[in-house]
Amino acid sequence: MNTAAQNPSVRADFRSDTVTQPTPSMRAAMAAAPLGDDVFADDPSVNALQEKIADMLGFEAALFMPTGTQSNLCGILAHCQRGDEYIVGQFAHTYRWEGGGAAVLGSVQPQPLNHQPDGTLALSDIEAAIKPDDAHFAKTRLLTLENTWGGKLLPFAYVQAATQLARDKGLSRHLDGARLFNAATAQAALNATDTYAEARAIASCFDSASVCFSKGLGAPIGSALCGSKEFIARAHRIRKMTGGGMRQAGMLAAAASHALDHHVQRLAEDHALAVRLADGLQGIAALEVEAPQTNIVFVDLVGAAREKSAALQEHLKARGVLITGLYRLRFVTHLDVDAAGVDHAVAAVRSFFAG
Ligand SMILES: *Cc1c(COP(=O)(O)O)cnc(C)c1O
Repeated sequence: MNTAAQNPSVRADFRSDTVTQPTPSMRAAMAAAPLGDDVFADDPSVNALQEKIADMLGFEAALFMPTGTQSNLCGILAHCQRGDEYIVGQFAHTYRWEGGGAAVLGSVQPQPLNHQPDGTLALSDIEAAIKPDDAHFAKTRLLTLENTWGGKLLPFAYVQAATQLARDKGLSRHLDGARLFNAATAQAALNATDTYAEARAIASCFDSASVCFSKGLGAPIGSALCGSKEFIARAHRIRKMTGGGMRQAGMLAAAASHALDHHVQRLAEDHALAVRLADGLQGIAALEVEAPQTNIVFVDLVGAAREKSAALQEHLKARGVLITGLYRLRFVTHLDVDAAGVDHAVAAVRSFFAG
């Protein structure tokens, strides 16, 4: 039962990969999940999920979280004390999109750095941002990277170099891997390897990683924070403090487990649909289409077309196509859009500019 089935006026919802509906077999797994009280560590489905994701990514332990924001927050606060700082991208989710939580709730200062065009933070910028041990400065404690970032795969050699630099400088390393499996899918395609192996390779560069089940993996809710046993014990206390201790959460964990078993390999289909969409939009004079690396297509409106953004989005909405953005439009592919939806969207954009 996809979004369009729930609401027949929607043909293709590209606003985010968070809009997916659980599939019938995911719902069946949720309904069948054995349950307990996870605050007593008694929920077998939560425990199984935590073991599964930790094993899959090569960590000692994991903690199921209601949201990716809470997962990143608990991760940063488990690494940092009051008066510490974390180095982060200017447009990273852990800086820009989480309500300043690390600063508000943890007195942890962000040190944002500009991104390079490929989404990386320059090694020289990271190095220059690390403060000497001096009473004037916050203590630089942590590097956080995001992969994928804006739909881009961070080059693996870069991830290795940046995390090695951080390690050499005595910093911990946290991965915001909300879309880690999209990164792994793209990396596996480049290297002709296995997606799970690439996910593990990326994760191995970090002391902790946060992964979303509610994005491309198609679960209704949930993320996991992974790390060492000792780190996860600290994060567990912070999760409780921030109101994230859940009870019979196994119904949600079962959806996430189902997604790890059945929705990882299929992410390649989302990436192929993103390419199909980008190819379909090529050649429209008003648009500059960025070639997608994963499941996000960015399309810039150029020249006079910039004034037509609202009209374009109305035109698309009237045809059941939902997107986000203003001058830079964003289309995200996922479990609940198919080739027919993509082709319908391309035709709808073309009819707008032809009219
Ligand atoms: C979605 C997302 C998160 C977490 O978002 P929630 O809505 O809190 O689950 C974190 N980081 C990135 C990069 C994301 O895209």
